[in-house]
Amino acid sequence: MRHRLFDSAVLASVKRKGKQLALVARDGRALLVRLGMTGQLLLVDSIDPTIKHVHASWAVRASGRLRFLLFRDPRRFGSLIPCCDCDAIDSHWDTLGPDALSVTAAQLAGAAKHRRVPLKVFLLDQSAVSGLGNIYVDESLFLARLHPRACARSLADSEWKNLVTCFQKTLKKSIRMGGSTLRDYRTPDGVLGRFQHMHHVYGRSGELCTVCKAVVEREVVGGRTTSFCPMCQNGSTNVGK
Ligand SMILES: [Zn+2]
Repeated sequence: MRHRLFDSAVLASVKRKGKQLALVARDGRALLVRLGMTGQLLLVDSIDPTIKHVHASWAVRASGRLRFLLFRDPRRFGSLIPCCDCDAIDSHWDTLGPDALSVTAAQLAGAAKHRRVPLKVFLLDQSAVSGLGNIYVDESLFLARLHPRACARSLADSEWKNLVTCFQKTLKKSIRMGGSTLRDYRTPDGVLGRFQHMHHVYGRSGELCTVCKAVVEREVVGGRTTSFCPMCQNGSTNVGK
């Protein structure tokens, strides 16, 4: 199915790497979409003037039906970048590491070899692996029973393998459930995510661990609020402060 996207363009495909999207037109032009912290693409039947923070809109015809694609971004961390072709997209994406859904344990272990940083900081670094944000790093480290302050370069091969399995499983499950709606996140159809109800640690500091009943703790690691279970995630001998 092809949709008219913007003036004289026909949408041929949507690409993604990490947290970035590219809407690619049939004539080769593309629009790179960085959602940032709070950016949204919404597909609506009509433009409601009471919807705030809409920075761009396009009339979209799909299957003979006219709708509107909105780019909404309350905190303005997102951006829209026109690209003349797919090579231009690739050059924007050159700085991103392998996508989180396809990265291998060996790639991560290689990238972490000389990184004397906390695991949490390493996983949020989009040049090491792209697509992991605060929620999914905290949830995955819990499932992998790894402390967020464990030194990235000290993980054993078996720990990387387990960690990759954990974050890929977590991401796929969240995608199936429409993501995590903590404040105003919506799917493009305006539906609320449901994965927030499945969180083990993120947003649960002060509550009991779902596995061992210890109190979930919260610390700032690399400038980001981090939730973890001090019992389930105390296995590493390389935890630094
Ligand atoms: Zn626990």
